Parts: sequence; structure tokens; C-alpha cells
Amino acid sequence: MSSKTCRGCDKDKDLSEFYRHLQMSDGRLNYCKDCKKAEMKNNRSLKRERYAEYERRRNQTEKRKAHLYANLKRWRRENPQKMAVQLARRRARKLDAEGDLTVEEFEALCEKYGNACLRCGDRDALLTPDHVVPLSLGGSNLTENIQPLCLSCNSWKNVKVIDYRPDAVLSG
Ligand SMILES: [Zn+2]
Ligand SMILES: [Zn+2]
Repeated sequence: MSSKTCRGCDKDKDLSEFYRHLQMSDGRLNYCKDCKKAEMKNNRSLKRERYAEYERRRNQTEKRKAHLYANLKRWRRENPQKMAVQLARRRARKLDAEGDLTVEEFEALCEKYGNACLRCGDRDALLTPDHVVPLSLGGSNLTENIQPLCLSCNSWKNVKVIDYRPDAVLSG
């Protein structure tokens, strides 16, 4: 008489085979202990699986990120001039400056001035786009405000307004 049918395994079992549960009319769960244990075990392995999947995906994206970052670093190392142009573009955008100097425009400009720094004349140095009127003083990032300077001349000039171009495009 003190037995009932388990909803899980459909077996008739003694009430002692069911965990106590105060809210049930007979004070016992409708699933037997064995079924309940199996369920909990199942949940645990399900959780483990989900966690393993989560870990796997996270590792994948981290690997991917590291890979992309390594590529970016290599690109910067191999294309320092393009990198310098990109930096100028980024700064210009940040300062809301007019113009969007492209790598092609800057390369053409370097070509025009003999691929040498306009201040020191160095032909072997990496050329960077210097803003005749500095971006921070409201200068634009248009070709007409750009002169190719080597890194050290560029940082020496800093925020001064000096036009080294023989054909000084900018007047006043
Ligand atoms: Zn059962
Ligand atoms: Zn120089």
C-alpha cells in the first residue's frame, strides 16, 4: 500500500525508494531515487559538456585574436610608412580635421619631393606625413597641408608651423 509508480522508470516501488518532498500530497517525489540520481548525473555531465564547449570556443577566439594581432603587428613592421599615414588619419579623425590623406596620396607626395626628408634631406629614413599646420592647431589632413619628413625631423618640428616645401603650396 505504501508504494507508488515512478513517473520516470514506470516501476512500482516502495515509498522509501522515493525522496521526501513536503509539497507532494504523499510527501514523496513522483520520481524514484534511482531516476532522480540518474537525472542529476545527467545534468552534471550536460553542464560539463556545455562548459567544455564554452572553453573550446573561447580558446578558439583567443587564438584567432592572437593570430590577427600578430598579423597586424607584422603588417605595421613591414609597412611603417603606411602605418604612419594611418596614424595621421586616425589623429585627424579624432580632431575632426578636414581631409583624409591616403597612402597613395602620401606616396605620390614623397615621389614628388624625391623621396627625401624635406628638412634634413635624408633619403634612407622612413618618411612620415608631417602637417605643415599641425592638426592640433586646426590644420587639415589634406595633401596640401602635408610634407614628408623623417621621424626625427617630424618630432623635432612638433607643433611649429614650418613649410619646408620648395613650392610652398600653403600661403600665409
Ligand atoms: Zn524510477
Ligand atoms: Zn629629416
